[in-house]
Amino acid sequence: MDISGKTIVCGLIGDPVEHSMSPAMQNAAFRELNLDYAYVPFRVRGEDIGRAIAGMRALGLRGLNVTIPHKMAVIPFLDGLDALAGKIGAVNTIVNDGGTLTGYNTDAGGFLQPLLERGFNPEGKRIVVVGAGGAARGITFALVDKGARLVMLNRTADRARALAEQLCQHYPQGAEGMELNEHNLAESSANADMIVNTTSVGMGASSNETPIPRQVLRRGALVYDIVYNPLKTKLISEAASAGCVTISGAEMLAWQGALAFEKWTARKAPIELMKREVIRHLRNED
Ligand code: NAP
Repeated sequence: MDISGKTIVCGLIGDPVEHSMSPAMQNAAFRELNLDYAYVPFRVRGEDIGRAIAGMRALGLRGLNVTIPHKMAVIPFLDGLDALAGKIGAVNTIVNDGGTLTGYNTDAGGFLQPLLERGFNPEGKRIVVVGAGGAARGITFALVDKGARLVMLNRTADRARALAEQLCQHYPQGAEGMELNEHNLAESSANADMIVNTTSVGMGASSNETPIPRQVLRRGALVYDIVYNPLKTKLISEAASAGCVTISGAEMLAWQGALAFEKWTARKAPIELMKREVIRHLRNED
């Protein structure tokens, strides 16, 4: 649909934003549903975040995605937060309802959706999460919020323990944090229903590496690698050949966008199209 005086504008703020696939994915979804919406990337520097949100109000933007490094910094400038986003302490989606700005974390929901699509309910499941960085935060809160029992392993053990402590403050079943080493990995994976990689190992220049040795991958277990570039990481290849059910980061990426789309448009997102857009974009980058 051509841009007109009535076009509703959404966008992305972050630094950098040039390589984002959200504009392609969101605009394809708007076109598919014949919605008079447009999605634009905006590079915003750290010191300008408050002014960018004031600009969102002044320009009447309907929604924004928020990416690195602003997911936490944006919070003081909003009018309200969804409960889970408040616990996570990070926002990746803002909805503007007549001048009232509410922050959400669709990374968390976007992580869960591919599990639900496969009929995997995290409640009561034993899950090993490798990594304790920015992405792990939303993922672990989302899983514990659904009743999962977590063991978190991180190269810097103190980070895993600190995140586990924060989870325990909000949820009775809590989580355990420890150092990422072969012994802890083998022990915690032995009876796990799912193993999740949230580290950057396997991405880009480290594409010939895996954070999880092949011998701990058990037939039938779920292996979820949130790394999406390359599309098929070494972990995903080894897990598939070990007979695991695998989920790639591209699915999470498409779903976090789909959930934001649904908040802005109140329409069901064309998720299969959005997944295809992400895959097309990633194949072109390979
Ligand atoms: P981050 O905050 O920088 O955290 C990086 C994590 O990786 C930390 O736990 C870090 O451990 C660990 N790590 C890095 N190098 C390691 C190594 N050589 N050995 C062991 N652990 C190592 O990054 P992030 O934002 O969480 O992103 C992590 C990955 O997730 C990236 O590949 C990103 O592209 C991907 N991601 C995917 C999606 C999606 O939608 N699919 C969304 C967000 C992020 P230390 O604490 O010890 O440094």
